[in-house]
Order: sequence, then C-alpha cells, then structure tokens
Amino acid sequence: MTDRLVIVGAGQAGFALAAKLRALKDARPITIVGSETVIPYQRPPLSKKYLLGEMEFERLTFRPETWYPENNVELLLSTYVEEIDRKAKRVRMQDGAELEYATLALATGSTPRTLPASVGGDLDGVFTVRDKRDADLLAGEMRPGRRLLIIGGGYIGLEAAAVARHLGLEVTLIEMADRILQRVAAKETADAMRAIHQSHGVVIREKTGLHRLIGSPEGNHVRAAELSDGSTIDVDFVIVGIGVAPNDRLAQDCGLEVGNGVVVDEFARTSDPSIFAVGDCAMLPWKGRRIRLESVQNAVDQAEAAAAIIAGGNAPYDAKPWFWSDQYDVKLQIAGFNMGYDETFARPGAREGSLSIWYFREGRFIAVDAINDAKAYVTGKKMLETGIEPDRAVLSDPAADLKQLLA
Ligand SMILES: Cc1cc2nc3c(=O)[nH]c(=O)nc-3n(C[C@H](O)[C@H](O)[C@H](O)COP(=O)(O)OP(=O)(O)OC[C@H]3O[C@@H](n4cnc5c(N)ncnc54)[C@H](O)[C@@H]3O)c2cc1C
Repeated sequence: MTDRLVIVGAGQAGFALAAKLRALKDARPITIVGSETVIPYQRPPLSKKYLLGEMEFERLTFRPETWYPENNVELLLSTYVEEIDRKAKRVRMQDGAELEYATLALATGSTPRTLPASVGGDLDGVFTVRDKRDADLLAGEMRPGRRLLIIGGGYIGLEAAAVARHLGLEVTLIEMADRILQRVAAKETADAMRAIHQSHGVVIREKTGLHRLIGSPEGNHVRAAELSDGSTIDVDFVIVGIGVAPNDRLAQDCGLEVGNGVVVDEFARTSDPSIFAVGDCAMLPWKGRRIRLESVQNAVDQAEAAAAIIAGGNAPYDAKPWFWSDQYDVKLQIAGFNMGYDETFARPGAREGSLSIWYFREGRFIAVDAINDAKAYVTGKKMLETGIEPDRAVLSDPAADLKQLLA
C-alpha cells in the first residue's frame, strides 16, 4: 500500500499544494503529473510582461528545476492523466502507465472557450491565451502595424489589447454584451477602463458580436471578420478571450460530484474523501453559495488550505478573494467578490485618474475595484477581512483620508 499523494496538474494550485506540504514538514511521497512540457510557472504575465517580451520564462517559474528532486517531489511532465480508478486508487496516463495513490488532488485548472469551426474558429491565426506555448505563438504575431481583432472584453482581452497597442498594432476589440467587463465589474469600472483603452487607440465596439471569421482564398488563414452589425473588418490575426471552462472531465468520468467545476467542501474535499480539488477546477462553498474562482489568490490559498488538511489539520478554507489586472500603466486591483451587488459607489482617488468603485449588496459592503488607487484597495481589503462597514460620509468626501474608514 502506498501513502503517495498524486497531484494532477502542474500549475499554480498543484505547485502550491506540494510546496506547502513540504513547508509543513510532511514527508510523504508526492508526484505531480502535468501535461505541459515545462516546469510549473505563473500564468498572469502571459498576457502582460511576458507577452510584451519584457520577462524571461525563468522569471515565471515558481522554483528552479532542482527544487523538485531536492524536496523529493517527483514531477512527471508532458504527461496527461486520462482516467481515475477510484476503487483501485490508481490514475492512468495517456501512455497507459499507472500510478497508485493514497490521496489524489485534482489541480487541472481551466481551458479557454473557443469558437466553433462553423464560424471560423479553426482557421490559422486564431488564438487563445492559457499557457506558455500560446503566449509564445502569439508573441510571434505581435508586430507593429498588424491588425488584431480581440473577441471578448474581459480581463484577458483587455490585457492583450494593451500589450498589442504598446507594440504598435492596430487593435479592434468587440464585445457582444452591452459593455466590456459585464460579467466581472460594475459599469463605472468598465467606463474607466474603456476610456483608458480608447485614449491608447483601441477601437472598442460593444453590443457587437462575431458573425464569422473569413479565411484567405489561397489558404486557411484568417483574413477578415464579419460582425453582427453587418460590417466586415480586415484582420491579420484574432485573439479569442471569451472565458474559460473548468477542467472537470476526469472527475465527472469517475463519478465525482461535478457542477460548474468539481464540487468540494470547505476542506477542498470532493465527494470522495481521498480526492481533493483545488484552484480553477474546483467549485467551492462560499457564504452559503457555490462559486468557482479563477485567480492566483484562490489557487494558492485553497491549495495551501488543502495541504494543511492532508497533513492532518482541520481548518476550513475561507476564501478572501483578491485579483489584479495590469493594462498600460494602470493597475486595477480588486478585493472581495461582487457577485449579486445591487449598489455601487465611485470615489475619485488622490492621484489623477485614480478611482475606486465600492460594491454593496443589501446595504453591506462586499467588494472594491481600485484603479491606480492602492490606498482604496488596501483599505477595502482590510475592511472586508475585519467586517468593518464603510462610513458613507467618509466615502463620499473625496478629500477625506480613507484611513478613517478603519478607525
Ligand atoms: C493569461 C492569463 C492571465 C491571468 N492573469 C491573472 C491575474 O492577473 N491575476 C490573477 O489572480 N489570476 C490571473 N490568471 C488566472 C490564474 O493564472 C489562474 O487562476 C491559476 O493559474 C489557476 O491555477 P490552477 O492550478 O487551478 O490552474 P493552472 O495554473 O491552469 O494549472 C493547471 C495545469 O493542469 C494541467 N492539466 C489539466 N488537465 C490535466 C491532466 N488530465 N493531466 C495532467 N495535467 C493536466 C494543465 O495543463 C495546467 O498546466 C490569469 C490566467 C491566464 C491564463
């Protein structure tokens, strides 16, 4: 009988889980199985500094390659787990090899949604951004004067737009919904980010969907896009940023409970007590609801909480969501989770162009978006952690020091 922990997925959460167990002096054998060819690395720079060419891959990795043998963590790269046999407690890889586990952790992340072939999604020159390979392919396309169409006005699309403009490309971004950031942020945040992008020359077309992509007559490369308003634009390449889906097929196939992701409890346990799920692929309980978070904060904190449970602890994971996005010289920082908000309050910051948007649900403060406003972010985050409600008089006075909110 083995006491091995097998982690499926060598990304942010998979690495954090292994590293935390070793930090807790837990010496059980650990194997991380990852389908990518490279050692674990952080993804956020893939749509920011790495795509810009301002960051080497070595700076993306969590630890150097030597860390794994030094810490007795076996790393199986270029290896895809095909199947989980829960009865035999074994996973089967794509080459037929099998690995026994005592404990299994699913850290499989998520996959970008793609466009169907019927609208040209299979043409050459159509990209998504999820891993190093995607970013490397895309970086090769980012040349001055080329025409880029970005489909989807979420964070990935907007970050890619900022990189492309910085590198001198012509950028059109289309968003099917009424406005950019519709799913994730308030109108005030969207208005501010739209204005920033427009001032940098991005053409943003909201309420505009894609009808179809058109390939070149001589080959299979995208050359134009027909939009839902009947117009056609010429393009050299396309980035599709229309959200991600959790990688929960393995869990579903072996009969674990799956919703929008692998269903886990507050200890990151799935419906099988010897199997955990962490990071983007997990659907976790939060304030009486079930949510899925796609962020570094959640991947790390939930994985570390799971590690503590695996090592014998009993503290539940209490997600304290935070997120950031870098676009041009703008840092957007978000604390809390704005789901279900029914009121927002925008407050100009001390610096020119800085702004914070405070979210409320049923009168209670639930989240803040801070645009180049670190003070608002830090204050809001602290208030959420300690349960302090903001004093509206202080919030509505732009001259007031936000520190007073914590008094
Ligand atoms: C371009 C980009 C920019 C981002 N920017 C930000 C940001 O600014 N701030 C922020 O908070 N978050 C950001 N994120 C999100 C953040 O990176 C993710 O939430 C985080 O990586 C999730 O960690 P994870 O371990 O769950 O998944 P991942 O890091 O995606 O790792 C999952 C790994 O599992 C592998 N895998 C899947 N199935 C199998 C299998 N069956 N067998 C073997 N291996 C498998 C995958 O190949 C992948 O390597 C960004 C993400 C991307 C893609």
